[in-house]
Amino acid sequence: MTRIAIVGVAGRMGRTLVNAVQQDDGATLAGGIVEPGSSLVGADIGELAGVGKLGVTAVDSLEAIADDIEVLIDFTTPQVTLANLAFCAEHGKRIVIGTTGLNDEELAELDAFRDRVPMVFAANMSVGVNLTLKLLETAAKALGDEGYDIEVIEAHHRHKVDAPSGTALKMGEVVAESLGRSLKEHGVFERVGQCGPRDPKEIGFATVRAGDIVGEHTVMFATEGERIEITHKASSRMTFAKGAVRAARWVADQGIGRFSMQDVLGLD
Ligand code: NAD
Repeated sequence: MTRIAIVGVAGRMGRTLVNAVQQDDGATLAGGIVEPGSSLVGADIGELAGVGKLGVTAVDSLEAIADDIEVLIDFTTPQVTLANLAFCAEHGKRIVIGTTGLNDEELAELDAFRDRVPMVFAANMSVGVNLTLKLLETAAKALGDEGYDIEVIEAHHRHKVDAPSGTALKMGEVVAESLGRSLKEHGVFERVGQCGPRDPKEIGFATVRAGDIVGEHTVMFATEGERIEITHKASSRMTFAKGAVRAARWVADQGIGRFSMQDVLGLD
């Protein structure tokens, strides 16, 4: 049984993760961490997540439960995640990171832990999305530079704080890499006013934020006469949570290194 602690246990993903660990025969809940000073310290994390009392209370410091846990699952914010990586390095723990919205500097900081901590980091933990990344690679390689315009369109709920989504960026990166392009050079994240005709090599992004949409991504390959659209729609956060728990069980048996969901699922 992999002993898991959930950081950000009171959040949207945190509560869903409590459910997912409960449903998994190979994992057990060993801790739940809330924001320092939160009024939820001491609350039963099962009750917090709506699955009934579990006898595990929320704490606001990882130090307090360091001896009880093997793997952290962290869906919080970039700065909290970086602090948790330092904790893992110091205490010999493993971590599954779902946090998105890291800037280049934060990504470099995260990457520096690849020599100190066994970690899985993925902007999207769903099995379907990771399969979709494979399909995108195949499509981009087959269509090549044959005049197909590439656009990434994503939609999420009104509370999401980063844009475009980490998944949309990952999809753009996979397509760009398959075509020998750089997303930094060819990604277009804003079009407004007299922005002129489209550069054939650009990879455009469009973002929708509305209501309670869990997460939808489409990559469009459009040319004169036809259009191919590869779409993934998540209808419940459970898909991300189940993927994260699977990653936690997997990373429990790995040595130090930075891994992706493609590694976890054996898709690479
Ligand atoms: P949320 O705001 O509902 O939850 C974040 C939680 O973290 C909050 O409850 C907050 O109180 C808590 N938190 C903040 N600082 C903390 C600290 N120091 N210690 C402990 N807890 C702390 O957000 P959410 O919708 O659950 O999303 C969280 C992150 O996960 C976002 O970056 C989101 O984009 C990402 N996400 C990733 C995937 C994926 O598959 N990789 C899927 C969904 C969401």
